[in-house]
Amino acid sequence: MDILLTHESTIRLSVFAGLFLVMAVLEAMKPRRKRSFTRRQRWFSNLGILFVGALFARFLLPWLPVSVALYAQSQGIGLLNLIDIPDIMGLVGGVLLLDFLIYVQHVVMHKVPLLWRLHRLHHADLDYDVTTGVRFHPVEIILSLLYKMGLVLALGVDPVSVVIFEVILNGMAMFNHANFKLPLGLDRWLRWGVVTPDMHRVHHSSTQAETDSNYGFNISLWDRLCRTYVDQPAKGHDNMEIGLDDFRNPSNLRLDQMLLQPFKKAKP
Ligand SMILES: [Zn+2]
Repeated sequence: MDILLTHESTIRLSVFAGLFLVMAVLEAMKPRRKRSFTRRQRWFSNLGILFVGALFARFLLPWLPVSVALYAQSQGIGLLNLIDIPDIMGLVGGVLLLDFLIYVQHVVMHKVPLLWRLHRLHHADLDYDVTTGVRFHPVEIILSLLYKMGLVLALGVDPVSVVIFEVILNGMAMFNHANFKLPLGLDRWLRWGVVTPDMHRVHHSSTQAETDSNYGFNISLWDRLCRTYVDQPAKGHDNMEIGLDDFRNPSNLRLDQMLLQPFKKAKP
């Protein structure tokens, strides 16, 4: 397990690059929906904003969630460090707790108007593919990291759980935003456990009732438990509209416009 901690950034980067490539190839071979825009029109900006967010976090935050977890562990701080449970329960419990609380964060990002201004950039993408999964405003990235660090400290999440959770979250974000067609039977079977591309795509619908559903990123249980689960988009996956009506102009796909988007007024 220590290898996870000593090689944390290499592991995360390799999993990211590997899965990105696999998803991109699957999308090219077996697309789920027809693209409205070329890759060139979106990928530079979507990957660009990921890069800007990573730089932003690197220079603004002196810690990462895993370093906070190591500190909490060394000081015996946080709920899970105070109770006596078997290591494996602590590890799995830490990952599940983080997953549920990230689900809660996602709901809050939608419901609080000021936070929605940040999160709506993710929803304003006019196509849905692997790069949508990394299209978050740098300020949202910073807030998410601070939230995660607060959780890790309060809950005393094991550093290994934090690394496992981050790798799963990054990997699943690319998987469930990917524009590739899973066999429908496999999708139905998989989504009893995890969030599939067809399940999460419903959340990117322009129809409000569908946007207000399927907030989970990793396991599908939270949406089922909290009654936010919607099985399929009303218009079907081929005909459903992706994106936000206020930001349909293709100029909104430019990186500079994306960075400015939280400060823009939504059209009435
Ligand atoms: Zn959302």
